[in-house]
Amino acid sequence: MKSLITRRKSLLVAASAALALTLSACGGSSTTTPPVASASFEAGTTMAKLSEAKTIKIGTKFDQPLFGQKGLDGKPVGFDVEMGKAIAAKLGIAADKIEWVETVSQNRESFIEQGRVDLVIATYTINDARKEKVSFAGPYYEAGQALLVNKDDNSITKPEDVAGKKVCSVTGSTPAKTIAEKYKAEVVPAATYTACLEPLRNKQVVAVTTDNVILAGYVDKEPDAFKLASDETFTKEPYGIGLKKDDTVFRNWINDQLEEFAKDGTYKKAWEATAGKVIKTAPELPAINRY
Ligand code: GLU
Repeated sequence: MKSLITRRKSLLVAASAALALTLSACGGSSTTTPPVASASFEAGTTMAKLSEAKTIKIGTKFDQPLFGQKGLDGKPVGFDVEMGKAIAAKLGIAADKIEWVETVSQNRESFIEQGRVDLVIATYTINDARKEKVSFAGPYYEAGQALLVNKDDNSITKPEDVAGKKVCSVTGSTPAKTIAEKYKAEVVPAATYTACLEPLRNKQVVAVTTDNVILAGYVDKEPDAFKLASDETFTKEPYGIGLKKDDTVFRNWINDQLEEFAKDGTYKKAWEATAGKVIKTAPELPAINRY
């Protein structure tokens, strides 16, 4: 009798584990599909151009869990991707008409300047140096810089601990600059954060640095290998939506949409379907910076 109960119990456990797996597998690729608006815009605006073309090119990351990661079907998923779909929908463009372009940290400004993308939504910190080349709507999220270390390493808890040590980060990113200039780490550069994981695992570097929410995605994938050095962050990284410099009408319009998304629940839904599955503190839309 006892063994039957035990067996039943373990079957139940197995069944619920399988269910959890199915759920999280669904969760990984879940998306919110905003209704496509029938919009009309003033002639000559970027909104009019895009909505007439019925397509838009959006630059995002292809290898960052939670924000922009290409799935098995070749389509990226994540919070940035959801923001892109919601904006496209307001332009009357269906999600399957979006052309997703991989932008890595270093090529975001140039891809916008060259017109290779109409927007960049790619964990893209708004700052003055970048504003000389592109304009930003937003912020739509505020992250902060953190350190990823090997699970068994308790020697690093703050950025001061990596002074003079090798830290992997991405060329053209704000965290790479901060860790080198302010905290005097020796930066080992990579093109993407994913490319930093093997050097960390092999102990060729002592840490990987970028925004906390990007690193949280990697910890979620490999909790036995990596951890955040601390829950504290040491910079502010307000994420903006990059667009052609001085297209103020388009920038203002996107800002209006972001405020609308906060009011109508689109923002919350987009978060819950993506990054919110791992990051438990749900964000409020930060105050829009209408510079
Ligand atoms: N938010 C930072 C940046 O824009 C780091 C993340 C990234 O490289 O995309 O540089």
